Amino acid sequence: MSIADRVQIIREGIREAALRVGRDPATVQLVAATKTVSPSLLVEAYEAGLRIFGENRLQEAQEKIPAIGPRQGLGWHFIGRMQRRKIKDIVGKFGLIHSVESVEQAHAIDGVAEKIGIQQGILLEVNVAGEENKGGFVSNDIEDAIAKIDRFPHVAIRGLMTLPPFSDHPENVRPYFSELRQLRDSLAERKLTHGGMIELSMGMSGDYHIAIEEGATMVRVGSAIFGQRN
Ligand SMILES: *Cc1c(COP(=O)(O)O)cnc(C)c1O
Repeated sequence: MSIADRVQIIREGIREAALRVGRDPATVQLVAATKTVSPSLLVEAYEAGLRIFGENRLQEAQEKIPAIGPRQGLGWHFIGRMQRRKIKDIVGKFGLIHSVESVEQAHAIDGVAEKIGIQQGILLEVNVAGEENKGGFVSNDIEDAIAKIDRFPHVAIRGLMTLPPFSDHPENVRPYFSELRQLRDSLAERKLTHGGMIELSMGMSGDYHIAIEEGATMVRVGSAIFGQRN
């Protein structure tokens, strides 16, 4: 099956999931997760209509971004874990950073963004299940963290992101998606940020339809577009 065929199927899946819960399918952005995917396949994905590529690894992005070059409407997001010393090379190169895990990281981003004269859009990664091996804010700490991060003038908190615990059964992760949405709603209601606490980045190849039913505004889909990674 071609990438274009797969994208078609995913778009249909997004549409159906949104309509099941009375949402407008246009409120869900498909972010193609591009780790390990070659530039030529990314060009194919672009030609199939994909416009946002999400990279995990800076080094890969630094090879792919120039290989593909600037194209109409094309944007790159950073979705992977960030090492402190890489932050200076990430800020400004990606329209949105999905994976900010600490106040310290946000502070470092703010410093770089100030130097280059931009405001960097970020999402705060939430460790909804409190897993030890994962980064991210625990739900109880996020309000304090937002109070601090919102004082950094060169970052804009646009929403929340999560990577729920792995499960073979997508229904098992529904409660985590639902929890992230409730957290977003309660933060947005209290207007704690100036960046607009709107986005919910959640759902991947196996469970994007469930994430959308639970309110995802961005789904990060890799293998369902590009095939299994080695
Ligand atoms: C790889 C990755 C994805 C996509 O995973 P698939 O199961 O291939 O769709 C989404 N988000 C992040 C952070 C990833 O690293």
